[in-house]
Amino acid sequence: MTTTDNTADLLAREIEARRDDLIALTQDLIRIPTLNPPGENYLLICEYLENRLKRQGFSVEMIRAHGTPGDSDKYPRWNMVARYEGKYPGECVHFNSHTDVVDVGQGWTFDPFGAELHDGKIYGRGACDMKGGLAASIIAAEAFIAVCPDFAGSIEISGTADEESGGFGGVAYLAEKGFFTPQRVQHVIIPEPLQKDRICLGHRGVWWAEIETHGEIAHGSMPFLGDCAVRHMGAVVNEMEETLFPALAEKRTDMPVVPVGARQSTMNINSIHGGQAEQPADFTGLPSPCVPDSCKMIVDRRFLIEEDINDVQREITDVLDKVAGKRENFRYDIREMHRVLPTMTEKSAPVVETVSRAISDVMGKEAEYVVSPGTYDQKHIDRIGKLKNCIAYGPGILELAHKPDEYIGVDDMVESARVMAQSLAELLPRPD
Ligand SMILES: [Zn+2]
Repeated sequence: MTTTDNTADLLAREIEARRDDLIALTQDLIRIPTLNPPGENYLLICEYLENRLKRQGFSVEMIRAHGTPGDSDKYPRWNMVARYEGKYPGECVHFNSHTDVVDVGQGWTFDPFGAELHDGKIYGRGACDMKGGLAASIIAAEAFIAVCPDFAGSIEISGTADEESGGFGGVAYLAEKGFFTPQRVQHVIIPEPLQKDRICLGHRGVWWAEIETHGEIAHGSMPFLGDCAVRHMGAVVNEMEETLFPALAEKRTDMPVVPVGARQSTMNINSIHGGQAEQPADFTGLPSPCVPDSCKMIVDRRFLIEEDINDVQREITDVLDKVAGKRENFRYDIREMHRVLPTMTEKSAPVVETVSRAISDVMGKEAEYVVSPGTYDQKHIDRIGKLKNCIAYGPGILELAHKPDEYIGVDDMVESARVMAQSLAELLPRPD
């Protein structure tokens, strides 16, 4: 069933009438500085959302993710899940937004937590990623309930912690508690800033590893009496430059990743550290002369849906074994730090088809399908919740995320709220 033109018009009018409310809501959310790390003001923002949504008739659960990374009495990991039951039984559409924002950084010309409205844009940390999307989904749900009070099914809106630091105290925790099982929730929309006319189907995979090369400590004036772990690591980097990086660049994907530069396998060397720890900036002494007996490198490998994680790991150990064949006394350890498998929702999934139709209806153009180069909370919904019918769709320009003078366009929020409300009307129709 598709929404009738009449419903679409009524929803559009209802959302337009709430434009000032949408702006004020977005500003209120930005003005609660939910910086992560360390994870500030999660309770405050959850209580704000709780008050708002209870007034609209939602029932609200507040869930603290006890014992998850970073959770403490000083910085508790609070999450909020609100649910509105329709008049008839039916499916559940869940909008999930993370409430945390990243560090402010340098270079702002606006107050990062001032939420100033200027030229149709609201400026502030988290405006685009993703408090604008959260606000748009709330307005969409409220407008839909006002226009279609007799709908079947239910709507959920969650505000969750820690997405920026892996989502363990947020969506992962809720998924483990059963909030995202296919029995409870049938459709998930994550209003991350992927642009109002794009549907994000999923993300590439991640494999992080720490590689350590070993040496032998000795006096720096007689390095031949020791064995330099940093030189061994240098040989590893050389081998990667010669064989691994060119091989990764050859591996192309059919996933529609944006930006297009990420339509291949990639690897970043996050850090290399060998020898003595660096001294604090105010230390005025000299280091002592020692041959480093250990050097550690952290690699961040992003892989494709066409790749197997075992091959991803084997490529790295192949590099190390090749170096071992060329260098005397070369010894290494490798330790996995983090893994996320790639995920991609089918284009034929109900939530994809519905949102796609709503985009062409509201925007007068075909929806573009994209895949994110990095992961987001969809990974937990997929892996722990076992729910495949999930996308990211929301207003805002991805490239502005985490940058100075981050903003969200008010018109973009209004248009994507219309897409979300129309999708609700199609997914939760009134029984005939
Ligand atoms: Zn985000």
